[in-house]
Amino acid sequence: MAALPPGSTIGILGGGQLGRMLATAAAQLGYRCHIYAPPGDNVACDVAAAYTISEYDDLVALEAFAKACDVVTFEFENVPVSPLESISGLVPVYPPLKALEVAQDRAAEKQFVRALGGKTAEFAVASDEGALAAAITDVGIPCILKTIRMGYDGKGQSRIMGDGDIKGAWERTGGQPLIAEAMVSFEAEFSVILVRGQDGEIRFWDSSLNRHVNGILAKSTLPSGALVEGQEQAARDMAAAVASALNYVGVFTAEFFASATGPLFNEIAPRVHNSGHWTIEGAATSQFENHIRAICGLPLGATETIAARVEMENLLGADGDNFEQILADPAAHLHLYGKAEARPGRKIGHVTRLYR
Ligand code: AMP
Repeated sequence: MAALPPGSTIGILGGGQLGRMLATAAAQLGYRCHIYAPPGDNVACDVAAAYTISEYDDLVALEAFAKACDVVTFEFENVPVSPLESISGLVPVYPPLKALEVAQDRAAEKQFVRALGGKTAEFAVASDEGALAAAITDVGIPCILKTIRMGYDGKGQSRIMGDGDIKGAWERTGGQPLIAEAMVSFEAEFSVILVRGQDGEIRFWDSSLNRHVNGILAKSTLPSGALVEGQEQAARDMAAAVASALNYVGVFTAEFFASATGPLFNEIAPRVHNSGHWTIEGAATSQFENHIRAICGLPLGATETIAARVEMENLLGADGDNFEQILADPAAHLHLYGKAEARPGRKIGHVTRLYR
């Protein structure tokens, strides 16, 4: 595809903070954004030129949206694939829908990565309640049950630490097909974030060390330390192989556990990622800008880290009430997402601190 000229319209499926930051980056390059999202607290609409609020399976609304856009992307990996297939003949859609399809199915995702030589935790599929006990026996206790579909930020998961946890586990996990995954003893968690252009060029950002609390990212730090740095290249090779096999265009994230035997792949996000928010101020070009560049067919921007130390902290629930205190810190760059409701545990913003 020839480069999309500034002034063109980028469609974004999903109306959350990732869409908001994508739209902000797109506006800086002279593009207009049109958000498409179901009813809800769609904070991306506040910074977009246009929006459509409707369900993802409303084919009439989706088609009108596609006709109003020059390229379409997504910021949410649970957008249903089949309605998108119906608009892909009307407008280019990046990343490719195959990436969305793979990322939406935890079992398919791990199998895809394994087929390319990547290592994952042991897992077994339980398609119904009757298959649960055998799946748990297969991987052993302790293990984690994860729904195959619609899980994120630790949702749709429950831990089996002993035989006593098995009773009621099917309902607790959501009463839907799941995988039992062996508990990994890892030293650290990190992600590889890369951007792949329409010509196949790949650029990587440095991997941050990611600390999770209750299944939600709490903090990303760079430099990531010797352990992650020692496993980064192998993880990059794996992530690049997956992105290339998918003929991917845009920003792609792969999450890893740094285990004693090397990087173990955990999951894919076919989109910009929370662990890359630090790139807005901490890298030469942010993940958001490079995603826009890639889907618009523009040259990719440099990805190097531009500070000696970077810390990105998520703000959850009432954390944003401290905004004045955060702003008084000269190292801090505050991002608030404009959410109407600061429910406990909800991501309402982040702060990135740069130390030179
Ligand atoms: P996920 O939704 O798969 O990213 O899981 C959310 C978080 O739960 C991860 O970031 C880890 O902190 C933890 N976790 C997930 N899978 C495992 C595992 N197999 N072993 C140990 N911890 C895990």
